[in-house]
Amino acid sequence: MENTAKPSNPLSQKDFMERPQLEALQFERLQKIVKHAYEHSPFYTKAFDAKGLKPEDIRCLADIVKLPFTQKTDLRDNYPYGLNAVPRSEIVRLHASSGTTGKPIVVSYTRGDLETWSETAARCFLMGGVTEEDIAVIGYGYSLFTGGMGAHQGMERVGATVIPQGGGNTEKLCMLIQDLGVTTICCTPSFFIHLMEVAEKLGIDLRKSTLRHGFFGAEPWTDEMRQRMEQGTGIKTHDIFGLSEIMGPGVAGGCDGRPGMHIFEDHYFPEIVDPQTGEQLPPGCEGELVLTTLDKWAMPLLRYRTHDITRLTYERCSCGRTLVHMDPIRRRSDDMLIVRGVNLFPSQVEALLLQVKGIVPHYELVVTREGAMDDLEVRVEVTPELFGDQVSVLESLRKEISLKIKSMIGINAKITLVEPGSIARSAGKTKHVIDKRQK
Ligand code: ADP
Ligand code: ZN
Repeated sequence: MENTAKPSNPLSQKDFMERPQLEALQFERLQKIVKHAYEHSPFYTKAFDAKGLKPEDIRCLADIVKLPFTQKTDLRDNYPYGLNAVPRSEIVRLHASSGTTGKPIVVSYTRGDLETWSETAARCFLMGGVTEEDIAVIGYGYSLFTGGMGAHQGMERVGATVIPQGGGNTEKLCMLIQDLGVTTICCTPSFFIHLMEVAEKLGIDLRKSTLRHGFFGAEPWTDEMRQRMEQGTGIKTHDIFGLSEIMGPGVAGGCDGRPGMHIFEDHYFPEIVDPQTGEQLPPGCEGELVLTTLDKWAMPLLRYRTHDITRLTYERCSCGRTLVHMDPIRRRSDDMLIVRGVNLFPSQVEALLLQVKGIVPHYELVVTREGAMDDLEVRVEVTPELFGDQVSVLESLRKEISLKIKSMIGINAKITLVEPGSIARSAGKTKHVIDKRQK
């Protein structure tokens, strides 16, 4: 049943704008940002000129398809300030995304951009039920990574009491949760699982703690992970999505209605395109998420290819919001592994592993190549109780996983059950794939 009661916070009321009104606002903002990008960023001037396109050619929202795409490589090639559209004196903050190879990607913000970012992160937390009464600990890294600062600003905007703990230092985090009466945590889902383990070792029962909300993002997580976290701690989990190129955490957030997230469309305009052809797909189709920043002035991004695979639906959600709804992001078009010709996403293996009793959600997929043949090894941790069990118990567990993998992807993977704690933990994004094949 639809929930018609709108929240009292004026920020949240923006989530309930009628679609015609929202679309009028989006178009007005789109026209302005396109003109701004064309006139002030040499990168866009060149890209528009190459297509013979002028800002005036954008006469309705649907005309967005006329705009050129931007890609991660554009940011890399124009490192560090090449996409900027304001003088350096107006830039008040820089962040950078990890960039595992080569130079990172640098993103610039004006004061106004930071306000927009805080607003959308705040709307995400309000949607999850955070109020001024909450005490929120930030467990994302405070660094060039946008996670820490982004969540921090959003929580402050809500008016919650914010504890800027940052990533890592898990034992101290457990202590803070207990001593300071923390009600809300923001961190990566895999770090929270690690926190649960550390708490257990310290003899802390998180179910009895004040913790009641967790906002998890920066990496994909499955329903199975959600269940483990909720059952293990009694908290309510919420999804939060973002990327540094567009803004940072809080581009989209989860509601109580259904799995997935609402995109704050008055600031970030979404499209779904075919990842191969780049052709825009109609609502309801799965494809690659493309985002346009509607009012980010320092570094506007037009039609940015996120590589995240999802689906959008525009029907009013059961929570009453009119904002577009996006399916949970479980995979990226570029994290697909091809093993012996079979396409495989780490999240598929995760979901399958977590259906097995005695398995903990710490795993890695190691791919090697012997001659022309690919080999997949799934290394996964088991619970301490199980690890100490008889060899025959572990052997039957190994067989069970092996059969499940075989029936899912049709290949015989080597299953290695490893000692609890032996797979590296990270306070940031967890790397699940080790591809040792020569590229
Ligand atoms: P980098 O990883 O390059 O440092 P970001 O931190 O900006 O840069 O990463 C953004 C990416 O993280 C997104 O494009 C998406 O793939 C992933 N991501 C962020 N939040 C979520 C989420 N809630 N669910 C799934 N994936 C997410
Ligand atoms: Zn909803």
